[in-house]
Amino acid sequence: MVAAMMLMPPHEQMYQALVERDGSFEGLFFACVRTTGIFCRPTCPARKPKPENVEFAASAQDALSRGYRPCLVCKPLSEGAGDPPWFAALLASIADAPDVRLRDEDLRRRGLEPVQVRRAFKRRFGMTFQAYQRALRLGTAIRALRDGAGTLDAGLDAGFESASGFREAFERVFGVPPGRAQQHAVLMARPIDTPLGPMVAIAGEDGLELLEFLDRRALERELATIRNRLQRAIVPGEHPVLDDTATQLREYFDGTRREFTLSLKPRGSEFQLRVWSALCEIPYGQTRSYAEIARRVGSPAAVRAVGTTNGRNQIAIVIPCHRVIAADGSLSGYGGGRWRKQWLLDHERR
Ligand SMILES: [Zn+2]
Repeated sequence: MVAAMMLMPPHEQMYQALVERDGSFEGLFFACVRTTGIFCRPTCPARKPKPENVEFAASAQDALSRGYRPCLVCKPLSEGAGDPPWFAALLASIADAPDVRLRDEDLRRRGLEPVQVRRAFKRRFGMTFQAYQRALRLGTAIRALRDGAGTLDAGLDAGFESASGFREAFERVFGVPPGRAQQHAVLMARPIDTPLGPMVAIAGEDGLELLEFLDRRALERELATIRNRLQRAIVPGEHPVLDDTATQLREYFDGTRREFTLSLKPRGSEFQLRVWSALCEIPYGQTRSYAEIARRVGSPAAVRAVGTTNGRNQIAIVIPCHRVIAADGSLSGYGGGRWRKQWLLDHERR
């Protein structure tokens, strides 16, 4: 996930770089074209999409997991310093036929050692070869589902050999079989791009439940906890709260919004809810210490518990846990990484 941690340039700048085919942006972002489902390098010689049809990804892995296929013209996956000589050809063959599942014996037949293949994928994408293929297939299936394809067609088109294989993979990710995903009482999830990398937002009729950076380590566990506690599935989709979240986050990053007016539904103990609500009272651009928050919630001795609760906040940025720092003024920890905490505090002081 190293690549996804990279800071992406502002949206307008990326679009301009894309139009100008600016080579200095190579590797900083990938352009995903909604109308074609293809993702490209900034320098791709193909005709450039309209701004409203582009979304940006910090890494190829991120683009793949959103259901985009690598462009056959600029081959965004096929070049990398230090890659073994066979790597580019293998990537190209997966891109050409994402529905063909390559097993260990298939690799050996091509003269490749599965262990080396796994190592190369781990290094380049932070995941195994199998996981990479799965992500590519599942991403394609999710995209097709979102576009209204029938469940079975979506799965089979994405290269799952059987309906049950697709159902299994889908259920592992979303907690319900694909057929029930649309009808059931579910929580809706959508990715939101930010200058600090992609986030995921989850909302239901009670409000925003989660807003986290996609590369946060605890994310999968948090999703599982939400699913289990609420007995609800999480599926990719649209929701007014998610639209508002995306809009207000964009305004926040543009510097035009200092307060969020979203309906929030954080889930936690009575103490945790008190702490999170105290965090929301810290004004934009200011910081508080853990001890100050502990006093604020009427439990002056509970400094450590306040620290833990601060770290358990699942609605990043909107519940501003980044505004709590150590008593000596040092940053202290942050679930999304300290570099993001520093960035957010600097941004609010600008
Ligand atoms: Zn391209």
